[in-house]
Amino acid sequence: YIHIRNLKKSFGSFTALHGIDLDIAEGEVVCVIGPSGSGKSTLIRCINLLEDYAADSTITVGGTPVQRGRALEKVRADVGMVFQSFNLFPHLTVLRNVMLAPMRVRHLPEAEAEQRARELLRRVGIGEQADKFPGKLSGGQQQRVAIARALAMEPKVMLFDEPTSALDPEMVGEVLDVMKSLAGTGVTMLVVTHEMGFARQVADRVIFMDGGRIVESGTPAQIFDTPQEERTRNFLGAVL
Ligand code: ATP
Ligand code: MG
Repeated sequence: YIHIRNLKKSFGSFTALHGIDLDIAEGEVVCVIGPSGSGKSTLIRCINLLEDYAADSTITVGGTPVQRGRALEKVRADVGMVFQSFNLFPHLTVLRNVMLAPMRVRHLPEAEAEQRARELLRRVGIGEQADKFPGKLSGGQQQRVAIARALAMEPKVMLFDEPTSALDPEMVGEVLDVMKSLAGTGVTMLVVTHEMGFARQVADRVIFMDGGRIVESGTPAQIFDTPQEERTRNFLGAVL
């Protein structure tokens, strides 16, 4: 569903991605692990063009090329993204945060947007918080709102960039549980994470990046139990 060929990205004279090739099938759950600065965020930010990339690189999402122009709207409508910081609109209630994009972008009638938003909030376990403002919620609750908000656009792809890294430890589990239940619903997921337990349990495939390259990729068992590359072994030795 996502096809990435020779993805190169530079910031000035610094090369952050050195020609990444990656194919992700529809419904597949792929976790990306690797040290700080290895290019994980840059990779996923290129997929909905939050970062520009080299002219001879190609990315397609559901067959649509990811590049400037009209088709970009279609790609962005198909791709939901959840960041480390929740980025909710502080002046809107939780419910309104989730209703906003479907009404603005999809022109969904208000009643329908509200019904769907309430349903999604229940699904991520915070139905009772709908009428509060984000600032009144815990970090874990806010991140679940962010997930519900992304899901409100019925995306084909969900990109997660360290969604639990900013959370207090006791809130990590509730967000991972929501992501676990999302995996297996058919949505294609690309998840940058430091949660090795989650990657092992939920990922169809794990990718280890270092220095702007994919060093190794395989099933969770291959990567965690029998890593082939020295750099993968060193990284896992340090984090596990
Ligand atoms: P982390 O685990 O710390 O989030 P990461 O693997 O997500 O790291 P990236 O954020 O993708 O790493 O960054 C890859 C490299 O590109 C880093 O060396 C970073 O300093 C550099 N970089 C990222 N964004 C920019 C930018 N806007 N301008 C200049 N350099 C950047
Ligand atoms: Mg990052």
